[in-house]
Amino acid sequence: MPSSISDPKSAIRARAGAEGFGMVRFARAAAPLRAPERLGAFLADGRHGTMDWLARDAARRAYPDVLWPAAKSVVVLGLNYGPHGDPLDVLARPDLGAISVYAQGDDYHDVIKAKLKRLAGGIAKDFACEVKVFVDTAPVMEKSLAEAAGVGWQGKHTNLVSREFGSWLFLASIFTSLDLAPDDAEADHCGQCRRCLDACPTDAFPAPYQLDARRCISYLTIEHKGHIPREFRAAIGNRIYGCDDCLAVCPWNKFAQAGREQLLSARTELTAPSLRELARLDDAAFRALFRKSPVKRIGRDRFVRNVLIAIGNSGNAALGEEALRLLDDGSPLVRAMAVWALGRLGIALPQRAESDPDVRSEMMPTDRSAVA
Ligand code: SF4
Ligand code: SF4
Repeated sequence: MPSSISDPKSAIRARAGAEGFGMVRFARAAAPLRAPERLGAFLADGRHGTMDWLARDAARRAYPDVLWPAAKSVVVLGLNYGPHGDPLDVLARPDLGAISVYAQGDDYHDVIKAKLKRLAGGIAKDFACEVKVFVDTAPVMEKSLAEAAGVGWQGKHTNLVSREFGSWLFLASIFTSLDLAPDDAEADHCGQCRRCLDACPTDAFPAPYQLDARRCISYLTIEHKGHIPREFRAAIGNRIYGCDDCLAVCPWNKFAQAGREQLLSARTELTAPSLRELARLDDAAFRALFRKSPVKRIGRDRFVRNVLIAIGNSGNAALGEEALRLLDDGSPLVRAMAVWALGRLGIALPQRAESDPDVRSEMMPTDRSAVA
């Protein structure tokens, strides 16, 4: 370590602050975490749905010292992405689509990765130590590490809550061979509150601190590749990519501040986009609109599937035109939800031949009578 740097934690905090990280805390790499036991229960109950990568990598994700045995300390970082207004306002405008706050700007993976690489490079140079960087590659562990380092606590909705930034922190960490004194862990400040649990439109919390991802709109609209089960479609409303409800209602957000990172701030065209325009996106237009956004990862067909569910829930029969046109789409995922949207809007399905069994099953009169 260069002799001029006698206080490595302050030096790291200063470097991290210059990169825009509003929260910089330290944990031991071998800190006792609640992640392994929580992850084990989550997986044992099958609540990860089709996110098989979570199960496949469980041990590596859960134990930092398995992840990298040479690590002694972890620098845990939080980047504020607080919204400028109430992200739930758009839910009252059924002709528009609600995109989760974190996905309205540039892809946070790319933005944070660049910052972390610069920061880690600086730490390695300043202290002649080894460093490794992880960006959302170990999500369960990261929340537990953040709790151990005192960034916040895992609230009853299972996400991290910060006393300074509320629900709106991207988490990241740098593992280092440097031995740094750990900060105090944060205590749970949920108390008797259960606002997040009561706000969930799909009852995705079997109990406080437990999430059944298979029922969560974020999982269903982003991770789930197939047809979205009928029982959740009405509750999805106009949420076309993710869901912020449990995050947004947390009372600790009264201390939140609007994010200041330009690249992550919401693009005007993604804060409340028109469902009609989104339903008209072909592959090329989808890729152009979401070029730098995380939304691009789900692809046009899955996205238009979500838009059609929102159209079905809009109560606006004029949007039925879009569903009628999409009955001829090349994707069965899209055609099936076009059928469902028409049924939900009370618009008669035109006579047509359909070869795909899933789309045909959406067309069955019994299914169409149970659209809600
Ligand atoms: S993100 Fe939405 S659907 Fe998922 S648990 Fe939170 S409130 Fe429920
Ligand atoms: S809404 Fe209430 S229960 Fe949920 S995380 Fe926030 S403080 Fe905890």
